[in-house]
Amino acid sequence: MNAIEIRNVCVRYGPMEALCGISLEIASGDYVAVIGPNGSGKTTLFKAMLNLLPVTEGSILLYGHDSKRFRDWQKVGYVPQVSRDLHKVFPATVREIVASGLLAAKRFPRMIFSKDMDNVCKAMGLMEIENLADRLIGELSGGQQQRVFLARAMVNDPEVLLLDEPTAAVDPNTRERFYQIVKDLNQKNGKTVVLI
Ligand code: ADP
Ligand code: MG
Repeated sequence: MNAIEIRNVCVRYGPMEALCGISLEIASGDYVAVIGPNGSGKTTLFKAMLNLLPVTEGSILLYGHDSKRFRDWQKVGYVPQVSRDLHKVFPATVREIVASGLLAAKRFPRMIFSKDMDNVCKAMGLMEIENLADRLIGELSGGQQQRVFLARAMVNDPEVLLLDEPTAAVDPNTRERFYQIVKDLNQKNGKTVVLI
């Protein structure tokens, strides 16, 4: 089964063509890296996969369903590209950020119940950030923040993880540890991983 199938896709920003003629198949269980220079359209490709941007040509299938009509967003974990100082004054704790990932799997009225918090604890445990639960996101190092966002992406136990330059802002040791965690998610937990 293909997790993701991209068929001859083009994406435009107004008159500017950011991507064109992109085709790609990612099978369940794959670990795939997307590489290319700055501005080559990698983030745009992820946003198109997530139906955050419309494709102007072609189609994208997620688990066999057109992304425009896809409903199972809890199957997809996304860690957006972050800038180092984006969250400095953002008034949310680590626990709240991780819990916000639960909303992808919820329909109206999108409430978080106490049993949901078990999944939040589990995701924080997986990323070894339980001790940071009550800290504000902006107080943490880049590497700690990345673990928080990976925990947020993992909270619904997704089948595929889309990671946009997850370690761009962290030191080499943290980077190595982070990739070890992602490798385990792929090899031991069978998660499909697509990494920029
Ligand atoms: P990458 O992630 O590979 O660095 P992006 O997908 O972010 O590249 O950007 C691809 C191209 O699209 C770049 O030329 C960028 O300037 C442009 N672009 C990205 N986002 C927008 C936007 N919201 N509006 C207009 N142009 C954009
Ligand atoms: Mg990018």
